[in-house]
Amino acid sequence: MNDSAVKQRLFNFSAGPATIPLSVLEEVREELLCYPGAGASVMEISHRSKIFTEIAADAETTLRTLLEVPEDYSVLFLQGGSALQFSMVPANLLRGTGKTAQYLVTGSWSKKAIVEAKKEGEVLAAFDGGESNFCGLPASDSISVPDESAYLYYCSNETIQGVQFEVEPVCPSSVPLVCDASSDFLSRRLDISKYGLLYACAQKNAGPAGVTVVIMRKDLLQRGEDSLPGYLNYRNHDQADSMWNTPPTFAVYMLGKIAHWLQDDVGGLEAIEKVNESKASLLYQAIDSSDGFYRGHANPNCRSKMNVTFNLPSDELQAKFVSEASANRLDSLKGHRSVGGIRASIYNAMPYEGAQALASFMENFAADNA
Ligand SMILES: *Cc1c(COP(=O)(O)O)cnc(C)c1O
Repeated sequence: MNDSAVKQRLFNFSAGPATIPLSVLEEVREELLCYPGAGASVMEISHRSKIFTEIAADAETTLRTLLEVPEDYSVLFLQGGSALQFSMVPANLLRGTGKTAQYLVTGSWSKKAIVEAKKEGEVLAAFDGGESNFCGLPASDSISVPDESAYLYYCSNETIQGVQFEVEPVCPSSVPLVCDASSDFLSRRLDISKYGLLYACAQKNAGPAGVTVVIMRKDLLQRGEDSLPGYLNYRNHDQADSMWNTPPTFAVYMLGKIAHWLQDDVGGLEAIEKVNESKASLLYQAIDSSDGFYRGHANPNCRSKMNVTFNLPSDELQAKFVSEASANRLDSLKGHRSVGGIRASIYNAMPYEGAQALASFMENFAADNA
């Protein structure tokens, strides 16, 4: 990237597609016209070529290493975003089982997921935070899930409301735990063995839009009925090493680069977890020390370390905040249209300095406008 393009880059607090590490973008730029040894761009070569097969295998290996994915789990690279997983999960794990799937409805994304699940079979909301405007989460031991349930579904981080589970909900060992981890994937350590299936679209924390990672216990691959549309059956993707049809090659390539950045430059998930905690605490401190000028949306015990959501005393001040922040190179802070307010998304690639700049802007803005 020439210097002037780099200088034009803002601190980008977009919720997704979201900021990507500059060093990764620079590497990609370097390889864009000709991938080393390929004689063409990575976008221009067959997904079945030796070079691309190695790129995909390396992306998978790096993810497996980062997350310490156990051997008996399959890692799939799919398309259709997380929204397609709202349907694929119940199509494979609920349809035809005669069982009931349990859902924790904790915000906009799990609310959308349960709508799709109901099309596939019997579904119950074991928790519904709708009445409290999705500002809180169930205590992990307060959920009762019958042993014979098809699965327990939850969203580890509700991107729109900014509420995040600190630990997995308690679930009987006979019931697979299914998680939409789209917006906190790779942001912290995770014990994959607790999950039956975990998925994440890449465009929040793991790459550009276009690829969705599914990590699932291999025995669950057997649940999908043969009558499912081919693309919707996880088994097909597993058997074909995620090349049942053309995968989103460029997105997979970038996912691999970002996984390497995390592993080689940042030093792994434990290291990024610490950075993420310190970034989030800067912003929550700015909220808590504002004498009520900023009001956090999430209850303090379930505040997201990825999406910090808060309100100002009036809509006018909110609009002023967004536009003055923007003039200070702090971009995309407007909250989601469904909840309003301000949302600062501080994914892995947001540098500590970005969170610092926002926290100090918040202090100044409160002092000038309170
Ligand atoms: C963004 C997001 C989704 C939707 O992802 P798409 O790729 O747009 O389908 C689902 N769940 C969560 C938690 C998200 O953050």
